[in-house]
Amino acid sequence: MNIKYEKIRDKLKIDCEACSGLCCVALYCSKTDGFPADKEAGKPCRHLESNYRCNIHSELISKNYKGCITYDCFGAGQKTTQLFKDVTWDENPNEKDNIFAIFLILFQLHQMTWYLIEASTLTSDETLLVRIDKLMKEYEQMLQQPIIDMLKLDLDEYRNRVNTVLKQICNAISGQKSNQTNKGNYFGKNFHKANLDKRDFSMSLMIAANLEGCSLKQTSFLGADMRDANLCNADLSESVFLTQMQINSAKGNSNTKIPYYLSRAISWEI
Ligand code: SF4
Ligand code: SF4
Repeated sequence: MNIKYEKIRDKLKIDCEACSGLCCVALYCSKTDGFPADKEAGKPCRHLESNYRCNIHSELISKNYKGCITYDCFGAGQKTTQLFKDVTWDENPNEKDNIFAIFLILFQLHQMTWYLIEASTLTSDETLLVRIDKLMKEYEQMLQQPIIDMLKLDLDEYRNRVNTVLKQICNAISGQKSNQTNKGNYFGKNFHKANLDKRDFSMSLMIAANLEGCSLKQTSFLGADMRDANLCNADLSESVFLTQMQINSAKGNSNTKIPYYLSRAISWEI
């Protein structure tokens, strides 16, 4: 892979030490999604300390707070904190709304960049590679803008172009002709030990699907909902368009293999 892209991907990993607990404040949380309590967007979680640390961090797994364990901001938290030159949401109430808005914008931009970087490794089609390069350059330009201009970004138009590229790559891998997104419903489906190489599960519902021991080479999980999917003894090391949040939300074991650029879910070690 392009070394520059590899460096950008490193920056999309979360660095909570360099952040002001933005996800625990800026986001709406609900008890049914695995957070300790319902909470409005913009209000700090009652467990967030003044040093931006979670005072029940060591208990998140035993208390089964899946929302907290699963969330991953693609590095938007530390980037937002850095953009505001370490002036935090609680120190500067006048900037609070802008800080939260930029965090949400960067989350989306970083997520699209995550996918684009992987896309660049999955095709040798020159036309597609040029389009990916152009989108990456636009991303870098967006990050250079003053905050006031970033707040006005039209992400829908950019997202449409990103999605078109990603879909073309998924289609090329799976051999599918249609440009329609699959959005299959595999809720609880038992795929035990099936060969699912090159299958396109983009945007599919895979909650509690059993993928134990499956062959998943070049299987696309772009945007798939993998909460509680069983990945025990599965090899996802060559699967494509996986994110840390998907890994965190699924069940795995010591035999689960994942791509080198992702981390094992902390809940799997138990
Ligand atoms: S916003 Fe991201 S970097 Fe900040 S605390 Fe949450 S996960 Fe960590
Ligand atoms: S419980 Fe901890 S990790 Fe979860 S939202 Fe609250 S402060 Fe954040």
